[in-house]
Amino acid sequence: MNVLRFFFVSLIGSCTAGAVWSQSPGRQQEGLTSPLPIPLVLAGNFGELRTDHFHTGLDFKTQGREGIPVLAAADGVISRLKVSPYGYGNALYLNSPGGLTTVYAHLQKFDPAIEQWVLEEQYRLKQFAVNLYPKRSFSFEQGDTIGWSGNSGGSSGPHLHFEVRQTASEKPLNPLLWDFPIEDHRAPQLDALWFLPVNGAQIQGVDAPFRSSHSRDTIAISGSIRLAVEALDRLDGANNTCGVFAMEARLNGALWFSWQLDTLDFSLKLDMNAHAYFPVWEKQGVQVHRLHRLPGNRLPVYKESALSPELSLPTGEVAVVGIFLEDIHGNQTERTWIVKGGEAYVECMPHKLYPYDQSCFVLGEHGGSVSAPAHAFYDDFWLDLEDLGSGRWHVGTVGQAVRKKLTVRLPLPPLDSTETVPSRGWVATMREKDGALKAVYPATLSEGEAVFSTRKFGTYALELDTVPPSIEPNRVHLSASGSTLRMSGRSQLRFSVSDDLSGLEEINGYIDGSWVLFRWDPKRERIWYELSDEKHRSGAEVRVEITAKDAVGNVMKWDGIVAFP
Ligand SMILES: [Zn+2]
Repeated sequence: MNVLRFFFVSLIGSCTAGAVWSQSPGRQQEGLTSPLPIPLVLAGNFGELRTDHFHTGLDFKTQGREGIPVLAAADGVISRLKVSPYGYGNALYLNSPGGLTTVYAHLQKFDPAIEQWVLEEQYRLKQFAVNLYPKRSFSFEQGDTIGWSGNSGGSSGPHLHFEVRQTASEKPLNPLLWDFPIEDHRAPQLDALWFLPVNGAQIQGVDAPFRSSHSRDTIAISGSIRLAVEALDRLDGANNTCGVFAMEARLNGALWFSWQLDTLDFSLKLDMNAHAYFPVWEKQGVQVHRLHRLPGNRLPVYKESALSPELSLPTGEVAVVGIFLEDIHGNQTERTWIVKGGEAYVECMPHKLYPYDQSCFVLGEHGGSVSAPAHAFYDDFWLDLEDLGSGRWHVGTVGQAVRKKLTVRLPLPPLDSTETVPSRGWVATMREKDGALKAVYPATLSEGEAVFSTRKFGTYALELDTVPPSIEPNRVHLSASGSTLRMSGRSQLRFSVSDDLSGLEEINGYIDGSWVLFRWDPKRERIWYELSDEKHRSGAEVRVEITAKDAVGNVMKWDGIVAFP
């Protein structure tokens, strides 16, 4: 992968067109040192989506407590001091000779001389909240203690919010462009590609946004669509959700659209809502980034190509959409989706017969729809969606073999007004008269409806699967005393693993942190590691971890100590 980099020219240069494109990840600038005397662990990074703005700095964890010395990241003079019950709380701005301002927020206390001066100003002005530009010189050298970390202002837990700004423009710069000692070996996480229809266009036969988490299926489109990418990043040392640094889309291998968060602009902060796919960001708080610039979006972070940001394909034509993500430390993620142009689906009337090579959808009386692609059946067909009441629907036709999967959308059952609609965990089920489960299909949520694919006709209901799989050590390994598992002469390390409703999708086992093979027999609900694989240390007590994920994303983790012979 070769993400094009539109980088600022120097420490104080601006991000103008024609700037240097050569800064490679992992080669950050020197000149700033750590603002904390503890290992740096991030709870948030630059560019992460927040309500009505991008996060413009780094949030450093402070070991869950206040009072850790905060150190000047460079030589400098205090240019601004702010005390507020909200926002940055106690914040200190340090101007350095190189043209940079570093900002330290949510502090518990300032350096004693500053603390005394701010107190005098608060008495002089007779107010708690003050925003001061001191005329007298408070100067510090790199590494000096300028204050202590805290939890002041709009902070929900002790941490240090740290920013780097261009002094002249006050624009925030991505602090990770400087070489801070921060461990990051995790690649960005690409969760889904969103297909957004323009003016009645259809994705998979439906004129509604479509979320594709699996890249192996071909996605059929008719009309013009836009794309958006659901993605986030994480760094070592903490599981906090961070933002993505750089994203690039390629269409059939050609550069299509890209962006990179080197710098932002406080005066445009609300435009974050135009960068994000707002309906999903607003409702679910999930970071979905548009791969096109809305006409009113003024953010200076995009690189557009001559290709139209809207994708439309003639019937039968195939295109490859490649999405590349890269974090500032050079960790990369890449996935591709295959998109195919198709005929627009037309609305079919219930109980009417249509030709087998027709693609159509039928609408339910109270919402929902069933879509059949052309050649879904071998013979002419009719299609129905009937609301049977009490959360059950009949989907179907009779006596037809199905060649291509149908897409079914069902309205969610009514919830208590106090309940929030779960964004995942939905499954469509078919049950026998006695309630026994006949079939289950994982569903995704789109526009307030659950969407799933099926080749089966019959009566469906929507249910929630929020229970993760269960993982239990086989009883032969349990000893009377202690929690350490014993092998008791067995040649296999066995666990019982099972899941209700959506079913197990993925099982992974680790010994001392390294992946090992667990064989799996679903009918006996058993997984096991063969000691003959010799991936464990003999005669040692080692840590074993197992994770099991079901088809709607519920995850169970087991970890414990196993004494191997
Ligand atoms: Zn912050």
